[in-house]
Amino acid sequence: MNAKLDSTVTTRPVTRQTYDEVLVPTYAPAQMVPVRAAGLDLWDQEGKRYLDFTSGIAVAALGHCNPIVVEALVRQANTVWHLGNGYTNEPVLRLGLAITEATFADRAFFCNSGAEANEAALKLARKHAHAKYGEHKSRIVSCLNSFHGRTLFTVSVGGQPKYTEGFEPLPPSIDHIPYNDIEAARAAIGDDVCAVIVEPVQGEGGVMPGNPEYLQELRALCDKTGALLIFDEVQCGMGRTGSLFAYMGYGVTPDVLTSAKALGNGYPVAAMLTTEELAKSLAVGTHGTTYGGNPLAATVALTVLETINQPAFLARVKEASLYLIGKLEELVRDYPQVFGIVRGAGLLLGIVVTDEFKGRSKDIQRAVEAEGLMVLIAGPDVVRLAPALIVTDAQIDEAMALMRKGLDKLLAAR
Ligand SMILES: *Cc1c(COP(=O)(O)O)cnc(C)c1O
Repeated sequence: MNAKLDSTVTTRPVTRQTYDEVLVPTYAPAQMVPVRAAGLDLWDQEGKRYLDFTSGIAVAALGHCNPIVVEALVRQANTVWHLGNGYTNEPVLRLGLAITEATFADRAFFCNSGAEANEAALKLARKHAHAKYGEHKSRIVSCLNSFHGRTLFTVSVGGQPKYTEGFEPLPPSIDHIPYNDIEAARAAIGDDVCAVIVEPVQGEGGVMPGNPEYLQELRALCDKTGALLIFDEVQCGMGRTGSLFAYMGYGVTPDVLTSAKALGNGYPVAAMLTTEELAKSLAVGTHGTTYGGNPLAATVALTVLETINQPAFLARVKEASLYLIGKLEELVRDYPQVFGIVRGAGLLLGIVVTDEFKGRSKDIQRAVEAEGLMVLIAGPDVVRLAPALIVTDAQIDEAMALMRKGLDKLLAAR
């Protein structure tokens, strides 16, 4: 066996233009093409360096190519990658022990993406309600502006109509209510509801933190009606808010929790966590996925979980958050034409634009990217920052300097 890949295939020149020629045009990626990264640093094809305050949309929480994660991945890559669900494996058993010991959950189901974890959570809720109460208890309540993934079911549960347009007919029995609105929740959560799904901090929808009283009220309404409370912590979990999971900081415990994004630091892996009692609803044969919890994914997730779930690590996230919030408030003060308020939690922060810059978050993103800072947007009116959780104060200072440079140029160009 000495067959080698044809090097002309693996090294042929490609550019941003190639994207437009061969990929399905679902995204509008930046013009620069990143080729290499380490920690919060990233380089494009031209060798230009960027400071990454996106971490791949809140994914690379331990930084790019984190040596501890790389070591675990390579070790497992040389051991065994995949076995299929006819066999279990040691890494997934260790991950299952670690994640249930660290959370409210007694059981974990592993899959490959946030959408799949939510799909599993919603199917669990339907199956549970069906068996315990009957077919009539099938309604799902979700929030406007929420985001839960892109499968047909999860995109229908998500509260952003622009993502379901043209995909009709959509799955029925899904209601959307305004986020943080207790009266609307009381009116919507009746006896026919099997699940209430909510992001403790809305990410895509504009970096909007849930009010503690709101999440508490959802818990109470679910207890009253027998609906399951599902926390989608795909974006806000895994240390992002300074707690391992956001529910811990709120002191409100869900029945089901979904995790993905940072769980694999960039390796695709996701989890649905629940109680022993509820897990019984997904008996042998009721649900599954080929790759879920394979040895490679489980090794990476275990390494990430063990690294993040340390008191000193999480305390540093809170400290970095306070430092960054302080700097962002200075930015808002110094650029009142551009920015109104700062909101969010931990290292998931949004700066909301003023009326003057309404709809222009993308322009701001491009302007600061030109100066070498990568940031995210969360809709047309919010610039979103989600740096790796290992960000230093010096990197925050550098990011603010680059941001100011970009804003100065943007304002000068008007
Ligand atoms: C990103 C995200 C998802 C979807 O995750 P995928 O891995 O893209 O399927 C679901 N919920 C929330 C809150 C997210 O931020």
